[in-house]
Amino acid sequence: MKDNLTGQRFGRLVVQEPGISSHSGQRWTCLCDCGQTCMPFGFGLKNGTTKSCGCYSDEVRRRPKTHGGTHLPEYKIWEAMFQRCTNRKHTSYKNYGAKGVTICARWQNFAAFFEDMGPRPSHKHSIDRKDSTLGYSKENCVGYTQRTEQSYKSQCFSDVQRKNTNSSAVGRRARLTARATT
Ligand SMILES: [Zn+2]
Repeated sequence: MKDNLTGQRFGRLVVQEPGISSHSGQRWTCLCDCGQTCMPFGFGLKNGTTKSCGCYSDEVRRRPKTHGGTHLPEYKIWEAMFQRCTNRKHTSYKNYGAKGVTICARWQNFAAFFEDMGPRPSHKHSIDRKDSTLGYSKENCVGYTQRTEQSYKSQCFSDVQRKNTNSSAVGRRARLTARATT
């Protein structure tokens, strides 16, 4: 054993005793500040990649700081919600901002939004409002609901159609229907 790490602290971990040793390296039994024990590799401790039993990164995921969290998938949802409601150039603005869909004062802050909504279960989930005529707020948002394949496709389709055709959309749909029935 090259160096004995017993008793040393690495971030939240205090090394208790040598753990399993294999061809991949020496592991060390560590006690984390949160009370969990774990057995990370010595090189991970020494080069600074292992600083906790995993609880630290879990906390970061769950609780973004006020000015952080931009890497989270929920941040994209929050940002998209803002774009739809405030950016006149956004393709969906006419269905949201232009119709008076607003974002409550509290949710102007991403951290507050994340605290209320929590993590999104999967990328197929989107934020849903109880009453679609009202704005985005904790009271009006049920949480994340899973988009069905159908609704997701039709949403994409109508977005594309809106972008390409605008006023001729009705005519095109009529033509498509006519073609389908002949
Ligand atoms: Zn821990």
